[in-house]
Parts: sequence; C-alpha cells; structure tokens
Amino acid sequence: MADSKFDVVVVGGGLSGLSAARRLRESGLSVVVLEARDRLGGRTCTVEVAGQKVDVGGQWIGPGQDRVLALIEELGVSIYPQHHQGSSTVELDGEISRYRGFLPKVGAKALLDLGRAIFKLERGAKRVPTDHPWNAPDAKALDSMSVEDWTNETTKNRNAREVMRVACNAILAEEPANISWLHYLFYASGAGGFTPLAEVRGGAQQDRISGGAQQLSEGLSRLSGAEVRLSEPVTRIAQQRDGVAVTTHVETYEARFAVIALAPPMCDGIAFDPPLPEQRRRLQAELAMGSVCKCIVGYDRPFWRDRGISGEGISNGRWARLFFDATSPGADGGALVAFVFSDAAKEFGRKPEAERRQLIVEDLRRLYGPEAGDPRWYVDKDWSSEIYSGGCYAALFARGQVTELGPALRKPVGLLHFAGTETATRWVGYMDGALQAGVRAAEEILARD
Ligand code: FAD
Repeated sequence: MADSKFDVVVVGGGLSGLSAARRLRESGLSVVVLEARDRLGGRTCTVEVAGQKVDVGGQWIGPGQDRVLALIEELGVSIYPQHHQGSSTVELDGEISRYRGFLPKVGAKALLDLGRAIFKLERGAKRVPTDHPWNAPDAKALDSMSVEDWTNETTKNRNAREVMRVACNAILAEEPANISWLHYLFYASGAGGFTPLAEVRGGAQQDRISGGAQQLSEGLSRLSGAEVRLSEPVTRIAQQRDGVAVTTHVETYEARFAVIALAPPMCDGIAFDPPLPEQRRRLQAELAMGSVCKCIVGYDRPFWRDRGISGEGISNGRWARLFFDATSPGADGGALVAFVFSDAAKEFGRKPEAERRQLIVEDLRRLYGPEAGDPRWYVDKDWSSEIYSGGCYAALFARGQVTELGPALRKPVGLLHFAGTETATRWVGYMDGALQAGVRAAEEILARD
C-alpha cells in the first residue's frame, strides 16, 4: 500500500545518496532517503575505541578531491596529515627492508622494471576517458587483459611483479588476475594517474579527518534537510509511466523519480518491476565487490616513530599487505592500521576475533619489532560480511566486463537514476567520487523535471 508521496526517493544513505538528496532539496524537491542500516555513511564507519574515534571504513582524503574537501570545509571539520615521516617498510617473501621515497627497495633490476611499468601505466591511463572508458582506443583489447596479464607482459623481475601485485591489492582490494586492465586504467585516470592513487603526500592518502569520516554523511544529511528513514532496506522498486513505488518492510514510498545510490551488486537483491534491461541486470548480477578487512591495533605509544620508521609498509605475506600509522593527534598512545585483501580477507573474516587479532599482531611484530607484540587494543571490520556492502572498497570489473557491461553504469532506466561511487567519472571508488555521482544523478532528474 502506498503511504507517502515524494518527488524523489533516494535508495541508500551513503555519501552518494545524501549528496543527491541535498542537490534535489536545494531545487525545492521533496526527498526521502531510505537506508537499510541503522546508521548513515555506508562504506564509511567511525567507531569509538579506547576513547578515540577510529575509521574502520573510508578515511583518507587528498588533493584534487575537491568535493569532499569542500564538504569538510562547509561542515567546519578539521583535517590533519597522515603521519609520513621516516622510512617505509617492504616485506617480500619474508625479507624485510626499509626505504625512503616512493618506490620500495627491492633490488636495482626490480626498480628499473617497476619504473618502466609505472611509466607505461601512467601513459595508458591518460588515453582512457574516465566518463566512457569503454570508448577508449583499443578498449576491447585493453579489457580482454587482466591486470596480472598486463603485469606479466610488462615486467620480467619477480620482485617488480610482486610489488605491482601488492599495489593492485592495496588500490582495489582484489587480486590482479580478477581485474580488467581497462578497469585499472580508468580507475587511475579518474584520479589523475596511478601515482596519486598510491602516494601519501600529494596523493589519495595525504590527510585524515578529525573525528572520522562517517560524520560527513551525518553532516550532509543535516544540510540536505531530506527525510531519512533508517533500518529500511528496499526490497522492491516498481515503476509505472508517471511514478515509482519503492517498498521496504515498513512502507511503500511513491515518488516521481528514484535515485539508486548503491554499488551495482547491492542492487541485485532488489526486485524490479518491470525487470531491468539485460545489460543493467547483468551489471548488477555479475560484478564482484573487492574484499577487505581493515584492522587497527592500539599501543601505549607510537614506538616505531622512535626508530625513524613511518609505519607505512607493504608485504606479500599471507595476511596483512598494507600498513600505515593510524595514530590520532592528541590520542593517548599510538596505533597502526593493517589491511587484509581479496581471498585472504574472506578467509580471515571467518576466523574468531582472538585469532584475527593474533595474526595481525604477528604481522606487525615481524615488520615493526617485538614491541608490536604487546598491543593495548584491537578493532577490525570485515567488509565482505556486511550484507549492505557485500565487500569493499568498490565494485570491480573483471576481464571483458568494462566494454560489455560498463555502458549500463549510469544509464537511467525509465524513472530510475543511478548514483554511487562506482558511477563517478573522477575518483571512482572514493568518497569524492560518491559525492560527484550523487550530484550528477540529481542533475539528471532536475534536467527532466
Ligand atoms: P555506500 O557508502 O555503500 O552507500 C550505500 C548505502 O546504501 C549504504 O549505506 C548501504 O547500507 C545502503 N543500502 C544497501 N542496500 C540497500 C537497500 N536495499 N536499501 C536501502 N539501503 C541500502 N574512500 C576514500 O575516499 N578514501 C579512503 O581512504 C577509503 N578507504 C576505504 C577503506 C575501506 C575499508 C572501505 C570499506 C572503503 C574505503 N573507501 C575510501 C571507499 C569509500 O568509503 C566509498 O567509496 C564511499 O563511502 C562510497 O559511498 P556511496 O554512497 O557510493 O556507497
């Protein structure tokens, strides 16, 4: 039964849905945001541990991410630099070394190979239009290769290949064999290149948000003035010629349009009436999400800093592959964050918490010394087991899927418009992309209103 009538129903209370809601409300439209979880923010999530706010989801922002930076300023939230002073750590096949600068110390031949591969990656990304990567020159050929195929073709040195593999794990939370090379290129293209994706200073890991990233969604919701219904997963969306009916277990919301601000695989659990066109249906059913467990470990003090170690590190070990200093300014003690990716993340996520903690502490002890073996607190989040995210950071295109299914990403279906960071044309997969995509979907509706 239809109870409420709005101009627009927004499905999903993450940054993207809320930015769509705000843009629509600014133009005087009535909007309701339907969110499945009992909180806003989706793939951003800030929890309180040992008296401090800790981001177990999205956290970093960097230059060029103009939309998220503008929102932060508007909300009066402060940011602070990611701790980056000191040497970084690399562990390959159990061998640990420290280095300064961008490229890890993995041998002269490997460095040459790596430098060449990154140069080619940067050159390739420049040729890919971020709004229509499926129209890139040689799109079909680029899409027929996985990131692994390309890496094997481009590099000879085993260490170089391993570093490229861990970089892909870190950037997309997936194994290179499962990602289309064209997808990697358009991801990089949307960030202004591969280097900005991987860098701290001048890159996507430059700054952190005081008080955590989830407050951006809460602030955006306040700014929008839209009605928000929490704990209402949408199960069905029906459209007729003059409107949509969006159903949750509580109510059916009628509106003139809907914005669906979910990652494509998350739309697959919704019944659409009439059924969606085949390409859109396949996009939702066939794309996979990346897999990541983000683990944060608290210590009495940031002891690694005393030894001139930044806390930044990569490893091709079994569990955690990416590490950073996660100490919050003014916090009592220090913290390190460790990321587990891909199949390892799925296996890790199924283990009991005590075992997960032990495995991560052991990784940190190997990389940062015996003091890492004595943590004060531990928290983690397995994003693959979150039913309303289905994995993270974002949805991924495997070989062949960018050209076959990509064109359905942003294409409206009748009165349904699609947002979510996956549909962004800049900083795809990031908070900034989520904001851009929401505004774009709202403007599509305003243009036809
Ligand atoms: P979401 O946040 O996923 O929002 C979608 C919303 O829809 C969710 O709230 C979900 O609960 C809801 N939903 C799902 N199904 C339904 C349904 N049926 N009915 C109603 N609601 C539904 N980005 C950065 O910029 N910097 C980072 O450092 C960074 N690191 C990350 C680290 C991790 C561990 C993770 C998980 C993500 C990270 N990201 C980072 C990515 C960033 O968090 C996301 O790109 C962004 O938050 C996506 O926003 P969104 O609104 O597009 O999607």
